[in-house]
Amino acid sequence: MDGSIPVRRAVVTGGAGFVGSHLCDRLREEGTQVVCVDNLLTGSADNVRARSGDPGFTLDVRDVSEPFDVPGLVDLVLHLASPASPHDYARHPVETLRAGAHGTANALDLAQRKGARFLLASTSEVYGDPLVHPQTELYWGNVNPVGPRSQYDEAKRYAEALTTAYRTTRGVDTVIVRLFNTYGPRMRPTDGRAVPTFVTQALAGKPLTVAGDGSQTRSLCYVDDAVGGILAAAASGHPGPVNLGNPVELTVLDLARRIRDLCGSASPITFVERPVDDPGLRCPDITLAHSALGWQPVVDVDKGLAMTIDWFARLG
Ligand code: NAD
Repeated sequence: MDGSIPVRRAVVTGGAGFVGSHLCDRLREEGTQVVCVDNLLTGSADNVRARSGDPGFTLDVRDVSEPFDVPGLVDLVLHLASPASPHDYARHPVETLRAGAHGTANALDLAQRKGARFLLASTSEVYGDPLVHPQTELYWGNVNPVGPRSQYDEAKRYAEALTTAYRTTRGVDTVIVRLFNTYGPRMRPTDGRAVPTFVTQALAGKPLTVAGDGSQTRSLCYVDDAVGGILAAAASGHPGPVNLGNPVELTVLDLARRIRDLCGSASPITFVERPVDDPGLRCPDITLAHSALGWQPVVDVDKGLAMTIDWFARLG
């Protein structure tokens, strides 16, 4: 696919999740038919509720770790199915490894049978606790293969290797994108990631729990930007891997303060034990995304946080 041929029908695994549901929405807005394949392990049918009654959208509730088929024409397979928050993959370690291994193989097999382009939603976690900063795609990472994050990090590393093997030996047209911390509406308040945790705490007037001394950094990409990057990668002929993230780097403590201020909250900030293998630095080098895809994030962090806070506030 070189971007000149419009995608008519896309399969989105994990399409009822946070990022996947926004991706489904954008594809539908562009006129692409969407088959969302999701077992609702960490996602929710509520995320795609607005699509009910849409003849161009189908929700197929199934586990992609088991072989599956999608009848009819498919131009594009976007493989996002996987638990993604540290809380989720700690609760579902085997399911996470199976989604990365069997799920990726089944999604690649589908793309091969259909002659479809395949996109793997990989992660900055493949860099582990990085020794190179900011992280470029050429960095191989610093990952603990038996640590508390290993089920996720190694699943995605395996998924990248499998995607590469299908590309080089089975002729599947693939691209790997490495998403960095993405945030926005439809994150679950209890998923344990920093943004929903701080927003929920600040809106409730409870203490904001910062891990360690809060000097570890994160780079936050608003979900609309991430979706734009995913679709730009899908429409390109590039194989990746390509980083998709916002290079504006914040300490976790600064993030907590910003969210508290944007919420107009008087919550105190408290410090809690930092999780084992929590990355110290996280910042994407997006030179490749810019040059190869013409992509860069456009949503300012404070604006994105304000839109996210507004959504959480309306949840009640
Ligand atoms: P999410 O948990 O909201 O969405 C994941 C979706 O996959 C859920 O709807 C879940 O039910 C589904 N799923 C999980 N296992 C499945 C299986 N075996 N079969 C079918 N469906 C399954 O997470 P998210 O934040 O939307 O992440 C989506 C993808 O993006 C993941 O692959 C994740 O690794 C990647 N990613 C996300 C971020 C981020 O900051 N959100 C960062 C890096 C990478």
